[in-house]
Amino acid sequence: MILFLDLKAINAQYRDELIEACTRVIDSGWYIGGQELAQFEQDFADYCGTQFAIGVANGLDALTLVLRAWIEMGKLKEGDEVIVPANTYIASILAITENNIIPVLVEPDIATYNINPDNIEASITDKTKVILPVYLYGQLADMPAIMDIAKRHNLLVLEDAAQAHGASLNGQRAGSWGDASGFSFYPGKNLGALGDAGAITTNDSELADTLRALRNYGSHEKYKNLFQGVNSRLDEIQAAMLNVKLKHINDEVDKRRCIAQYYLNHIDNPSIQLPTVSANQESHVWHLFVVRHASRDKLQAYLTEQGIQTLIHYPVPPHKQTAYQQWKDLSLPLTEQIHAEVLSLPISPIQSLEDTQKVVSACNSFTF
Ligand SMILES: *Cc1c(COP(=O)(O)O)cnc(C)c1O
Repeated sequence: MILFLDLKAINAQYRDELIEACTRVIDSGWYIGGQELAQFEQDFADYCGTQFAIGVANGLDALTLVLRAWIEMGKLKEGDEVIVPANTYIASILAITENNIIPVLVEPDIATYNINPDNIEASITDKTKVILPVYLYGQLADMPAIMDIAKRHNLLVLEDAAQAHGASLNGQRAGSWGDASGFSFYPGKNLGALGDAGAITTNDSELADTLRALRNYGSHEKYKNLFQGVNSRLDEIQAAMLNVKLKHINDEVDKRRCIAQYYLNHIDNPSIQLPTVSANQESHVWHLFVVRHASRDKLQAYLTEQGIQTLIHYPVPPHKQTAYQQWKDLSLPLTEQIHAEVLSLPISPIQSLEDTQKVVSACNSFTF
């Protein structure tokens, strides 16, 4: 069986380094808010090209806390609107509704699966305060266009960069385009911890300060609480794991790009719609390699028979989830088509050429 993602094998590449880092934390006697976190925050900010990175417990909290911080800073209030792609992972939407702000769901560009800037313009009202682009599957959205819209309408931009560590456009990395960005280091992400972890990047020092308090009960100083904060910290063990894995991220992205290129060059079944790269190679880090097919379930069943594990990202769009009853009658045809047709092929930094070739042959021999 060709696994969709073999996390054990991915982390086994760095086994000795990870054990050494873990031992260092155990022996330090300091488990929250220490050297490992400080190091990671510095190095990850440098990697993204921002002044600050603030470690938090996970990617959902990263997004939620930025919006919360903007509320505390008086830049956003309950009932304001945030423009977000309708075909995103549910976390982007949960971060908004958790803060009692209104998500305005916008259809994506069918070619890239990212938010369509034309639809952003059309959705702006006098309540719109934030655009929340998502770099779905690892590809940057059309950020020059989005930043231009934000500037003209005086809107904040929060990037959901959870799938796009290291993607860049015009030399500018994911995490450095907007006013703030949320990253996830969930184990399966391109930069994955060995548990939950997340971070926010920004160049805004007031936002960074507010976030450092919010993640820690609303407090900078023990027993002095400025805000009704939360407990959302990136612990020393996970920071140490990330310090090891950050050193290897560029190599891993290169390997993902090689596999993606191989798929793009060799899958030639006309019924399978391949992904498109909108700008240059650097703008996509291939967190997922997502194809589309009119009979997606048949393609998935066929690949399973051929010993190839695939996944669907994502089977049900947010507006069709039980959690969001208020949207059950919303019609978003492109989003619904995408959810019905997408299939993610295996891709990972340790996938062998032989396995990649097997996936190609199976795709090319599929008839329906
Ligand atoms: C993974 C993911 C998140 C949430 O990250 P967690 O660390 O799992 O909370 C948010 N947005 C997108 C697009 C993601 O893929």
